[in-house]
Amino acid sequence: MNPDDVPTGSGPAPREVAGPRLPHPGEQHEGSTSGTLNWLRAGVLGANDGIVSVSGLVIGVAASGASHEALLTAGIAAVAAGALSMAVGEYVSVSTQRDTESALLAKERRELAEEPEAELAELTAIYEDKGLEPALAAQVAEALTAKDALAAHAESELKIDHEALTSPWQAAFASLGSFVVGAVLPLITIVLLSPAWRVPGTVVAAALALGLTGYTSARLGGAAIGRPMARNVLGGLAAMAVTYAIGSLVGTSIG
Ligand SMILES: [Zn+2]
Repeated sequence: MNPDDVPTGSGPAPREVAGPRLPHPGEQHEGSTSGTLNWLRAGVLGANDGIVSVSGLVIGVAASGASHEALLTAGIAAVAAGALSMAVGEYVSVSTQRDTESALLAKERRELAEEPEAELAELTAIYEDKGLEPALAAQVAEALTAKDALAAHAESELKIDHEALTSPWQAAFASLGSFVVGAVLPLITIVLLSPAWRVPGTVVAAALALGLTGYTSARLGGAAIGRPMARNVLGGLAAMAVTYAIGSLVGTSIG
């Protein structure tokens, strides 16, 4: 036997560290963090919407040759309408999703109470479909049922995280606030810049802001940064180009 093979304390550092095994720090394992993440994601989306829609609007109105007063009025109206529309839309969508999930969970809870054996068989079948041997699938299903049967069914059968139900009001206010934050930027450029610099200034400011929201949402999602950022900026620039073209056409045909 080669003496080097004898395990000694001075060998290479052990791979496993004593103590509790922790999940990889970069990954999201806790259900509670996904609620915060959804909330942040809604906020970033709201800001993005505020930047794109209000920049597009003021650029279109500016391209038509409208007066400073008309431009400002249109911009402020766009902020109010957009923010309220986002809030209402978010409230309705989250409420609907929540109602659906609550109804599904209630049905599952009833089924678990009324026919626990059929539900255990169902859970076992799900794990068999995922590729586990029947005996192992039964063992997994029994262990999960003993721990928290509803959570196990919610996760593997309904694909719902029953602890991460978002509040519709929270979602509505997050969207409203973040839309206003994003929309204020193009309004400021319109107020501060001289007529010749309004359109290019708004485009540059919006592109920078969209880079920032793109970066933030990519970071939140744990994805690579470059592509989402570029996609976000290019999408916003395309929207502004379209409204600029429409504004110019309307301005020429009316003026
Ligand atoms: Zn079930």
